[in-house]
Amino acid sequence: MTFRELADRVLSGIPLSDDDVATVAHATGTDVDDLCAQALRVKEHVFANRVSLCSIINAKSGRCSEDCRFCAQSSHHATQSPHYPFVGAKRILEAAQAMKAAGASRFSVVTSGKGLSDADFDELLDTVRGIRALGLAADASVGILAPERFAALKRAGLSGYHHNLETARSFFPAICTTHDYDEDVQTVRDAMAAGLYVCSGGLFGMGESWAQRAELARTLAELGVPSVPVNFLHPIPGTPLATRPVLSPEEAAKIVALLRLMLPDRHIRICGGRPTVFGEDRMRVLRCGASGLMIGDYLTVKGNAVAADLADLQAMGLEAENR
Ligand code: SF4
Repeated sequence: MTFRELADRVLSGIPLSDDDVATVAHATGTDVDDLCAQALRVKEHVFANRVSLCSIINAKSGRCSEDCRFCAQSSHHATQSPHYPFVGAKRILEAAQAMKAAGASRFSVVTSGKGLSDADFDELLDTVRGIRALGLAADASVGILAPERFAALKRAGLSGYHHNLETARSFFPAICTTHDYDEDVQTVRDAMAAGLYVCSGGLFGMGESWAQRAELARTLAELGVPSVPVNFLHPIPGTPLATRPVLSPEEAAKIVALLRLMLPDRHIRICGGRPTVFGEDRMRVLRCGASGLMIGDYLTVKGNAVAADLADLQAMGLEAENR
């Protein structure tokens, strides 16, 4: 079967089989170009020329109790990553104002750790109200929360919640041993039950197989999340994955295309690792099926200049949208 036929099947509602996933995995050379062109066709069928933009602030960094093997912020690894407590509403609102001026329409508050103290959570509620007052949609990613906290955030005006599953259930024990995959899945379910727009995706290039990439995509499809953040490993010195090779641009492009074909109507949103993998060709992700970008800096790694990303989008004839 050609990739055009595969894309036609996807558009008619037929999901990818394991054999289809293997065909994507084995594509090389001009076949990758063909795969990406067909993934772009599916993206344009669903989202036309729109690209969803978002931006974040790392509002509480480091000293996390969890042992995620890729993460600069885990207290289990000796990294040079900064650590500081919750920075508070004032600093966050200054950053939100700057990102609004740069063109973002949503702003997400991200904190390290499994959850927030009561005092930090109360300040987060004030922060959410402040971001809303600036005219931005407010999102958050503050770990594993109880349903009551999701309800409180929703009442404060929170629009979206971000909680990655990180990887496939079958690969998760090789990545994190301090909490259970089901806690992450339940958090995603609870956020959706609270009526929040939920972003949940993962990190690629940690040694997972293509079958495990497809496994994660199927889990996300079942959960029904509307937005799937995609991160590529940026190996951090001091973490157990420090010496893993960076994904090649070709393999990362195939991952984006696979996700587009497996999750045709969800936003595939490229976040951390884009400059690490793609360098100057940083907009390639938008030619292989992605429909969203995180702009500005990432959690512990600098991103591209916002103005450069926005100029590139304009040159490509793409239109930034709120969602
Ligand atoms: S990914 Fe999140 S939970 Fe895991 S170590 Fe990093 S900050 Fe902690």
